[in-house]
Amino acid sequence: MKRVLITGAAGFLGSHLCDRFINEGYHVIGMDNFITGDPKNLAHLTEHPNFEFVEHDVTEFVSVEGDLDYILHFASPASPIDYLKIPIQTLKVGSLGTHNLLGLAKAKKARILIASTSEVYGDPLVHPQSEDYYGNVNTIGPRGVYDEAKRFQESITMAYHRVHGLETRIVRIFNTYGPRMRLNDGRVIPAFIGQALRGEDLTVFGDGSQTRSFCYVDDQIEGIYRLLLSDYVYPVNIGNPHEITIKEFAEEIIKLTGTQQKIIYKELPQDDPLQRQPDITLAKKLLHWEPKIDRAEGLRITYQYFKSLPKEELYKTEHKNFKNHIKL
Ligand code: NAD
Ligand code: UDP
Repeated sequence: MKRVLITGAAGFLGSHLCDRFINEGYHVIGMDNFITGDPKNLAHLTEHPNFEFVEHDVTEFVSVEGDLDYILHFASPASPIDYLKIPIQTLKVGSLGTHNLLGLAKAKKARILIASTSEVYGDPLVHPQSEDYYGNVNTIGPRGVYDEAKRFQESITMAYHRVHGLETRIVRIFNTYGPRMRLNDGRVIPAFIGQALRGEDLTVFGDGSQTRSFCYVDDQIEGIYRLLLSDYVYPVNIGNPHEITIKEFAEEIIKLTGTQQKIIYKELPQDDPLQRQPDITLAKKLLHWEPKIDRAEGLRITYQYFKSLPKEELYKTEHKNFKNHIKL
């Protein structure tokens, strides 16, 4: 049985990856320190004979007993409000954490896939964004802690590939959504659906003309799985190219949820990218992959999930674990 280590396992994407690899017949070791994740995301796996969980901060030396075939490094805050609250942890997990996992991959002769992001393109001057675009990132702006951690992560991963011949894969993930996102993580989909469910107005930042392209989680996981099993070492965009303005998106959520509330406008956060759309030509060619689930269907499933959560989840303003983990 092949053995895979998944960091960030208690998070949104990490927990879906655990499910996928369990379903594919792997032995899965999930690792997380719960800084933005939630044990509930893995509750259904805890009794599974092929699943084990290790609570660990990957910025500290990482040790795993036994062989490993694959490592998927997904540990990192991912939402702007999370990484603005814990900027140093964000820089550390992308840099020190990635270094630890590359070292582990080398020791175990394992293939490693790291979770990069469309944020490496910053506020892009090229549209849509293809992998050969170098990006436009403000290193010292508030978002720089995430963007630069991820850019460093890509660099050190390529260095391990070139110097040590490590088998490496880099996925550049564009905005992905679905069940198990944290309702209070501040990303636009849980934010708008949470507001609709609480009967609050929907907060559009700026004039809402900025664009995003939203990918449903099952499509994202399929792309990542195919990339891991491919033999391509350079970054690959995985995302849904169907682009929409945030204002139009808020209107879609109003329709979907039937809320009587209206849109209100708030200040656009600094360095908020004005447009984002993945060019997925490479993924199509290389992985024979493209998204299958359109936004209407993905949002229906996601809305049902948020609606089914216990009422008290709706009113949690901050992640309960932030306070326990603030050790800079
Ligand atoms: P998430 O916050 O739900 O999950 C991240 C997980 O990593 C959490 O469970 C958290 O507790 C864990 N973690 C953070 N720091 C850690 C540390 N030092 N040690 C151990 N565990 C730690 O976020 P997500 O959306 O699931 O994102 C997962 C990965 O995918 C991240 O690397 C993120 O940068 C990347 N990504 C996600 C998206 C997206 O749209 N969801 C887009 C681009 C990139
Ligand atoms: N956004 C918004 N209202 C909110 C939350 C987010 O208008 O309550 C906007 C945000 O400014 C950005 C877009 O929605 O332009 C996507 O934000 P998100 O935090 O989901 O991810 P990003 O792509 O910025 O990392």
